[in-house]
Amino acid sequence: MTARVLALDHVGVMGGAELSMLDIIAGLGADATVRLFADGPFREALERRGVDVRVLPMGALGDVRRESRGLSPFAALAAWRLAGVVAREAAPARLIYANSQKAFIVAALAARRAARPVVWHLRDLLGPPHFSALNTRAAVTLANWRAARVITNSQATADAFVASGGERRLVRVVYNGVDAAPFDTITNEAALAIRVECAPGAAFIMSVFGRLHEWKGQQVAIDALSQLPADCHLCVVGAPLFGEREFEAGLRAQTERLGVAARVHFLGFRSDVAALMRATDVIVHASALPEPFGRVVVEGMLARRPVVATGAGGVREIISDGETGVLVPPGDAAAIARAVAALRADPMRASAIAQAGATRARRVFGVDAMVRGVRAVLDEVIG
Ligand code: UDP
Repeated sequence: MTARVLALDHVGVMGGAELSMLDIIAGLGADATVRLFADGPFREALERRGVDVRVLPMGALGDVRRESRGLSPFAALAAWRLAGVVAREAAPARLIYANSQKAFIVAALAARRAARPVVWHLRDLLGPPHFSALNTRAAVTLANWRAARVITNSQATADAFVASGGERRLVRVVYNGVDAAPFDTITNEAALAIRVECAPGAAFIMSVFGRLHEWKGQQVAIDALSQLPADCHLCVVGAPLFGEREFEAGLRAQTERLGVAARVHFLGFRSDVAALMRATDVIVHASALPEPFGRVVVEGMLARRPVVATGAGGVREIISDGETGVLVPPGDAAAIARAVAALRADPMRASAIAQAGATRARRVFGVDAMVRGVRAVLDEVIG
């Protein structure tokens, strides 16, 4: 069978968008081939799942950032050239599926030459504070002009697209799904061993998961920790995926300044997130800006741990405050500290919230539902 879907993504590292696309592509099986614009662990992970994947380098297009105020002539030329390559690659397929904004721009430029419809899986909150006005306008204009459908990972993402001028009729909301299996197979002994290894001497552990970036709010979590008793430790899981080395150095300096360096454990990028979550008492999602979705929130729920999360963006569709998790205002370290202390003081309530979260995560945010949702949109377009 010839693959009907040519799927594109511009990054080589494993962010949330890539982890999600990995499950979607695996779910589509032989119906999808993948072309990436950068090499790295994402290509390797796709290959391990038996996917036909190749890298088409993006050249100067790689220098464009979310907050960029314009496209250099070099970047524009690189996008145009890459679109020509993508148009040729799309010949055997029926549809181009773009999993990132850069991938969508290239796909939109390729669409006419390829004579193939484009579906954009939008996983970002367009507009301020995440994207410059120019970036947002360019993406929305291209979407209204060239996208056959825009899949969004939450209603919040859909609303931001429409508020930025995107046409609502294009939008289909498909929630991200996360595989529950890795969370169900960790034994208590394994979780205990991780506790001792990662946070020696801790009586109570809270953990944050995500790439190191001001947006993800590790600085807020460290601040919160400094307001909690000395037997409470913080594990910071994640790496600066896009070169945010200064930010990482700043976090370490912050732990020294606040006198909590011995209680904050930087674990770097880990591929055993499920085990680490099971080894944790409370999962903290400290994003200082709204999240389009927030996979780590669902993962914390799947791990049967109470989640304290920033109540903004897509997270409000995942957690119902006080029932399936606890919501706090963005950037509010004191509120996080209070919420964590309250959960620690009331294990019965913590366990009830964790159980309700686990049930909801399994019911609403499964991989099968996500793959079915995406496939339905692709079928709607292919006809
Ligand atoms: N993650 C990981 N290893 C790490 C840190 C994070 O595998 O060391 C995963 C995390 O489990 C989640 C994803 O990266 O599945 C981040 O997704 P999220 O939606 O929270 O944020 P994004 O990176 O998409 O902005």
